[in-house]
Amino acid sequence: MDRIVVVGAGQAGASLVARLRANGYGGALTLIGEEPVPPYQRPPLSKAYLLGEMDLERLYLRPESFYDDKEITLKKGAAVTAIDRAAQTVTVGGEALPYDALALTTGSVPRRLPAAIGGDLGGVVTVRTLGDVDAMAHRFGAGARVLIVGGGYIGLEAAAVAAKRGLDVTLVEAADRILARVAAPETADYFRALHEANGVRILEGAGLDRLIGDDHVTAARLTDGTEIAVDFVVAGIGIAPCTELAEKAGIETDNGIRVDEYGRTSDPAIWAAGDCASFPHAGGRIRLESVGNAIDQAERVADNILGANTPYIPKPWFWSDQYDTKLQIAGLNSGYDRVVTRSGAGEAVSHWYFCDGRLIAVDAMNDPRAYMVGKRLIEAGKSPDPDAIADPESDLKALMKA
Ligand code: ADP
Repeated sequence: MDRIVVVGAGQAGASLVARLRANGYGGALTLIGEEPVPPYQRPPLSKAYLLGEMDLERLYLRPESFYDDKEITLKKGAAVTAIDRAAQTVTVGGEALPYDALALTTGSVPRRLPAAIGGDLGGVVTVRTLGDVDAMAHRFGAGARVLIVGGGYIGLEAAAVAAKRGLDVTLVEAADRILARVAAPETADYFRALHEANGVRILEGAGLDRLIGDDHVTAARLTDGTEIAVDFVVAGIGIAPCTELAEKAGIETDNGIRVDEYGRTSDPAIWAAGDCASFPHAGGRIRLESVGNAIDQAERVADNILGANTPYIPKPWFWSDQYDTKLQIAGLNSGYDRVVTRSGAGEAVSHWYFCDGRLIAVDAMNDPRAYMVGKRLIEAGKSPDPDAIADPESDLKALMKA
């Protein structure tokens, strides 16, 4: 193994190359990214960075000198346009770059509102890249009227920033409640109340009929017929995995680039990790959109490229900051049949998800202790008595020992 090429310089790509060097890989190593900057953290973009509370350098995962020091060729602003699997090369900037192992960490792109309903008007933005956020920051002036489309974490975080900056904020969610894809009604209720207390109008079961304007959006008509005047629109309607390059090369995809438990695609010389990868889990397949997954899966793939043969077992965790609330999530809640609420000290509250009596996930609001205990219990495969969880007098730490 003398030449490893990694396509996609986000969290997964950066973690993968760092791990290869940490493991002692001494061959040629190239990391290729479309964006003009070194790999950076994406989560703060819709939080502290958009709020203007975080500098660019703090966003970078590692100082740029890291890549020189580790002899990693970082190609910024460079797009890979094709993979020649027979020749084992990728095309970048018109050149063919050879590889012995290729890793695809191409990430995901935000879904866009269709042009047919005005999604291509000026002033309709998405939050995904540093470029997106730098370009929209000037719009967040006090008094501006913003419509946020989508009540997932991206939409809610953008709403929180806008409200804090003094904008007039309306959020529309097509489903009957916010966070329907990712959280229980209890967690949705918590965040709805938090946003409403901060002056955000949340309209649920309200789709967007169309955006109106000549070049620039000026109004939005909702599916119930109401029309509201807007200065700009943020679409937070989910992301789609970047699979195009893999598909063009004939690599199998299925809601993401299909990999086996080791992170290998249908071509044994090509691997994938992060948002773009669909991997086996609990008898089915999942694709996770989180920093934790990007790091852990990429590190596992780095190990396996070098021959470790270690299956990837996700330990899902996630977080969101809105106003002064810090939400921490451990585990995956899909398939839950019971949610138990626990009130902690002060503002702390947590929701514990069970499936057939098994603890599968915890949403902890301002409750790092509940998060930490929940995460450890889930990882250890232990399930506390739901009634003990609900009892605010019970000792969480004791539950771990039980
Ligand atoms: P993200 O990570 O971008 O927050 P999610 O998929 O978690 O993505 O949330 C996106 C939300 O946007 C979902 O709750 C979905 O119901 C909502 N949504 C999608 N399309 C529309 C639309 N046209 N109008 C209103 N809400 C929408």
